[in-house]
Amino acid sequence: MRQEKPETGGAERCTFCAEAPVIRLKEPDRHLCAAHLIAEIEDRTARTIHGRELVRPHDRIAVAFSGGKDSTALLVILSRLLPSWEDVSLVAITVDEGIANYRDETIRAAEEVTKKLGIEHVCVSFTDLIGADLDALLVGRETQACSVCGILRRKALSVAAHKAGATKIATGHNLDDEAQSVLMNTLRGDLPRLVRISDADSSGCFIPRIKPLADIAEKEIAAYLFVQDLFPFLPECPYTRYALRLEVRSMLSAMEQEHPGTMRNLIKSKRAIEKYADRSGISEPLRRCRTCGDPCSGELCQVCMLRQSLGK
Ligand code: SF4
Ligand code: ZN
Repeated sequence: MRQEKPETGGAERCTFCAEAPVIRLKEPDRHLCAAHLIAEIEDRTARTIHGRELVRPHDRIAVAFSGGKDSTALLVILSRLLPSWEDVSLVAITVDEGIANYRDETIRAAEEVTKKLGIEHVCVSFTDLIGADLDALLVGRETQACSVCGILRRKALSVAAHKAGATKIATGHNLDDEAQSVLMNTLRGDLPRLVRISDADSSGCFIPRIKPLADIAEKEIAAYLFVQDLFPFLPECPYTRYALRLEVRSMLSAMEQEHPGTMRNLIKSKRAIEKYADRSGISEPLRRCRTCGDPCSGELCQVCMLRQSLGK
């Protein structure tokens, strides 16, 4: 995996101490040494969790753990914050989609990390869920890889989280992912998804999902892992090339470089739109899937629709 060296801005010392800086962050402009970077990332994540009340006493948090950099950072940070919470436990869940030359290596890496951190680890596969792996499901429809994968992964994760007795599902979505999603939903003209508040679930039918890293930029996460020798150098999913996200990602990174603050502003715009959107006209009431009984908005849930179209 390619990893650019963090930009240090040429400063000789950390803004807060005499150590050499490892990264330059803006708004406000500051240069951070490894120790101050680690402290800042963990502190900002703790503030997001506290400010949005993402974790409550007695929670059991299922961390969606692919073994990639975002979920590794999430697991490391949550395991360090854990002692400050009352009776909260963690379980890491890895979904094996069944992608040749990719997933086996990431599962091995995931096992190593959970073992090192002493965190319970559960693996669940698409084969358990639907009777076939992703590679087999995608023959002749490779361009749909990420939407098929996304629907099944969501389901696999929630089945495994239920089984593990989880009260929350934590995902490693970072600031860049959030900004990319705003732009992608806008480009697709998908207003319902743009204004959906993913943290909230008024129906109580789903295990609530939380995104503790939503305020941390991708480059900050990479640097956080890098300075602790925790950065996972793993292969990239071979279906990434079909993902619209990839194009949006490089476009937004270039814009952020030229115009710092672009990503935060996009997220700010989404929040402003959410405030004014009349959800009653765009979201359908929750119903039950007529095949499996899972909560959904139409006649069939997305997984059953997918099963039907795949003849599974
Ligand atoms: Fe699944 Fe697409 Fe991610 Fe590959 S890139 S793991 S197919 S969502
Ligand atoms: Zn269903």
